[in-house]
Amino acid sequence: MHLFPLFADLKDRRVLIVGGGTVAERKAALLLAAGARIDVAAVAVTALFGKWIEAGNVRHCAAAFDETQLDGCWLAIAATDDRVLNARVAAAATARRVFVNVVDDPLLCTFQVPSIVDRSPLTIAISTGGAAPMLARFARERIETLFDASWGALGALLARTRARIRARFARVEDRRRFYERVLRGDVAQLLRQQRDADAEAALDRALSETPPPTNHESRITNSGSVTLVGAGPGDPGLITLNALRALNEADVILHDRLVSAEVLDLARRDAERIDVGKIVGKHHTPQAQINERMLAEARRGRRVVRVKGGDAFIFGRGGEEIEFLRAHGIAYTIVPGITAAIACAAYAGIPLTHRDHAQSVRFVTAHRKRSEGEPDDLTSVGETLAIYMGVAEAAMLRDSLYADGWSPATPFAIVENGTRPQQRVLVGLLAELVECARAFEVRPPALLIVGDVAALAVSNHWFGAAPVQ
Ligand code: SAH
Repeated sequence: MHLFPLFADLKDRRVLIVGGGTVAERKAALLLAAGARIDVAAVAVTALFGKWIEAGNVRHCAAAFDETQLDGCWLAIAATDDRVLNARVAAAATARRVFVNVVDDPLLCTFQVPSIVDRSPLTIAISTGGAAPMLARFARERIETLFDASWGALGALLARTRARIRARFARVEDRRRFYERVLRGDVAQLLRQQRDADAEAALDRALSETPPPTNHESRITNSGSVTLVGAGPGDPGLITLNALRALNEADVILHDRLVSAEVLDLARRDAERIDVGKIVGKHHTPQAQINERMLAEARRGRRVVRVKGGDAFIFGRGGEEIEFLRAHGIAYTIVPGITAAIACAAYAGIPLTHRDHAQSVRFVTAHRKRSEGEPDDLTSVGETLAIYMGVAEAAMLRDSLYADGWSPATPFAIVENGTRPQQRVLVGLLAELVECARAFEVRPPALLIVGDVAALAVSNHWFGAAPVQ
């Protein structure tokens, strides 16, 4: 190890910053957050520095650096754009055994400021010792996504309860097991759901319960939970940070056919993956069986992640699955995803609403549970229709659109495999829909967009193959 990591207590301790520009300002902000008292030596300072000085948080000690300013300081930072001056600060500080950081000059530094992920009280510092700053930055981005804001709340709650936990579990092993339960179980989960009072109550309950037996299985005495995740249309870049975290923490993943391999690749390596995909018409796994499997896994105390293409609540039967979970008392959380209509439209350059062409948009599906005799009612001037699962029924769809008064001259676009490398877009007029779909040999998954905005795919094309007309 090239550098020794340490967390320094700078509260009410003096730090000298030489330089008053934006780089110095960034360092000062960090130091102020840690409660340091800052002296700044600079000819000119930024507006924010000016405010800090006015408010008494920072002392402007002089315009020019002089060695005596280091007296009584615990740290020094040289952040001017004058390399000679920076070197002079570094030499003077080092001679006085004051740790010094010289911005952008690792050779002159006796300490470095790491990249920080701040979930106070949890603080994660990352460093490559200056060897590969980009790598540290990359690592920080990854870590930022892994630890959401609830870790701060969790840290604070555990800090408040620490004495009670110690008193309750005198033996280290018991304490460790208790913490593991809390961290893997509902306390952390409730904090993630912004239910702080419930989390605190759950922790109280856990503290008053008799400790679970000391065998191996006790680790999973928590009842499991299910996270319903919308994985978007395929491009892994379109999943949310919450989806990524859920995939990272999963014990078992139940996924549909529409969930892309690239998205599943982001999941924890040793999570068990179960494909419960269904093909329309050929139900590989009936819904009841999926529900039972989900329930069984959750009851084993596992963290179940139920992943669906797009969004779970848009033609995804997510509503039915959570009703089932609720009926069986299984806790759940829901992560929304980018639904196919939104994603396909964006990747085909089609604005679903547009001031000149479309004032509203409707998400509809060709297979509907429709009550007898109810009209289709897909008519509306200035509206866009995004039709899911529609292409196989092109002729039927076209006819019902005509019956509702849509003109044969209305533009349509079919987006096949939207957002994926093999995306294809076909545009035309409603009159040609059936022939075009056939000639194009459209395969699922494909989304049909009907309305004036569909024609914009031609001029707005930016992703994948150019649209076919
Ligand atoms: N819950 C999903 C929809 C499931 S229904 C969502 O929110 O997107 C399945 C239908 O969605 C498919 O038949 C197709 O019409 C559409 N679909 C899903 N992913 C798609 C993709 N990548 N490209 C085009 N259409 C897609």
